[in-house]
Amino acid sequence: MTLDSLVELSDEEKLYILQRFDQFRQWRSLDEKRYCLVCGEIITGREIRVIRETSGKEPQRVTCPTEGCDAIPWEWAQPTDDVLIKIAMVELECRHLRLITRAGRALRSSTHKKTGTRSAETRPEPPFG
Ligand SMILES: [Zn+2]
Repeated sequence: MTLDSLVELSDEEKLYILQRFDQFRQWRSLDEKRYCLVCGEIITGREIRVIRETSGKEPQRVTCPTEGCDAIPWEWAQPTDDVLIKIAMVELECRHLRLITRAGRALRSSTHKKTGTRSAETRPEPPFG
């Protein structure tokens, strides 16, 4: 890690910084939401981290508030209905997939027992006479 530290800011200051760092989309208030394309979370302007080096006076960058995610403003999309629907669908799909894998595991363990009886069926019949 570097010597970067989080900066405590007033709402006005933070909004001003967001407007300055995010040249791609407009910030009108800290309550605006963005969809982070990197971690897939919805974040608000209030949650976004402002980071500066301990030696510097000016903030260095703004990043995604999600732990382990260092996404920067151009990786944040405005959460239109379209995006929100897509997120909901992905979540549903994940849940669906988990169910399928669980069912698949149960199925495999039940078919496993049957394989032992196979040799009895294939025993050749005794020849006549
Ligand atoms: Zn993120």
